[in-house]
Amino acid sequence: MNLEKFGQQVEEVRQRGQLLQYRASESSRLQEDTLLRALEELGTALEELRVAEEELREQNEQLTFANQQVEVERQRYQELFDLAPDGYLVTNLEGKIVEANSAAAQLLNISKSFLIGKALINFVPEEERRAFRTQLLQLSDMERIQEWEICLQPRKGSIFHASLSVTTVRGRALGGSQIQHQQGKPVGWRWLVRDITSRKQAEEKLRSIQLQNLELQQAARVKTQMMSVVSHELRTPLNSILGFSQLLLQRYYNLFVPELRDMVERIIKSGKHLLALIESMLDFSKLERDRLALNLQELNLVELVTATVEELRCLAEQKNLTLVLHANIKNPIIVNDSVRLRQVLVNLLSNAIKFTDTGGVFVEVQQLNQKQIVVMVKDTGIGIPESQLTHIFQEFWQVDSSTARKHSGIGLGLAIADKLVRLMKGTITVESNLGEGSTFRVELPREVVH
Ligand code: ADP
Repeated sequence: MNLEKFGQQVEEVRQRGQLLQYRASESSRLQEDTLLRALEELGTALEELRVAEEELREQNEQLTFANQQVEVERQRYQELFDLAPDGYLVTNLEGKIVEANSAAAQLLNISKSFLIGKALINFVPEEERRAFRTQLLQLSDMERIQEWEICLQPRKGSIFHASLSVTTVRGRALGGSQIQHQQGKPVGWRWLVRDITSRKQAEEKLRSIQLQNLELQQAARVKTQMMSVVSHELRTPLNSILGFSQLLLQRYYNLFVPELRDMVERIIKSGKHLLALIESMLDFSKLERDRLALNLQELNLVELVTATVEELRCLAEQKNLTLVLHANIKNPIIVNDSVRLRQVLVNLLSNAIKFTDTGGVFVEVQQLNQKQIVVMVKDTGIGIPESQLTHIFQEFWQVDSSTARKHSGIGLGLAIADKLVRLMKGTITVESNLGEGSTFRVELPREVVH
């Protein structure tokens, strides 16, 4: 039911009423039944009118409700527009601002009312205006631009990086009567302005960190390469020094006076010490470059640990330290690289002896579960400060790195042990109390696989 139809209906009833009135005035002797029919007809017409009126009222109510809904939506949009964290602007095709929200006004450091009517280009730094204009011209051919990054210059503020997303507005009047209604044609642009200064700064930071990382990687590569070259170059002459000294001692032992013998023996001892250091450096550089492959085979773990402990027993005895091994493992056969596993044990054991002055060193072999075994090296030595515990597996790290330190070493033993254990898919951990001693714990798979 619409208004027009309702009007027609009212007109019809009016005409019928007139007709009845006319007939009544025509016939003076109005018959009773004619009068009754006329009244009946009038009643029906009135009833129809009432139904139509009802329908109209209902429609009216629906319309009012719909209008309220539209108003709620409009208010919601307005609130969203106003309170959005990003700046929103609407400009006409010349780039003049016709609508702006609070965030936009804040970004451009100007009150909303002053912003309206200003050209957006006013807020673009001079040196970027040309590019901005060119982009604006291209914008006419596009429906939208996403994430257009430019610099904006707020009023009396410093330039910031902004990301603009622009959408074409079509066929709607903007800002009241400023733009005429043009169905379907572009009439302006909607701009989303986002301050991306912190993102830019983060990107910049990331770039510089990546660069630093690259430089560090490069430096690390150079370092390991240098270590490997130096070690090779040192090892060859050192081996011949050692070889010839040993030959000298063997061949002319009886000819040498004790003082001379002692000197050659010292050359050999120092040479061996130096060779061990060079070997460590070589191993480390190989491990760093993933050039070290394990030579896996079945071996008896208890036998290996016992032999290693016995090799180092003389060092412990020199310091009057006890050295005890306790093995509690049903099946001692494991799969590993015996040379490298021995190297891990030697590094841990020699440290334990080196850093212990009284008491002793205790080695324990256990079966952790069906698939893992554990070797522990405990000592009653000087211990390691808690703050150092996370660092000691780093290469060249020493708790006391002063030149006046009491203990020899270059800080590669634990780094090598750690890298080797990782290569064996195991873990190495340490617990220590300063002045009381340390416990190094190596957990390994029973069968190391490539
Ligand atoms: P190095 O023994 O050649 O100095 P390591 O890498 O073997 O190098 O050990 C690094 C540092 O960790 C040592 O200098 C020492 O400060 C500390 N450390 C290692 N083992 C022990 C231990 N059993 N007791 C006390 N400190 C230790």
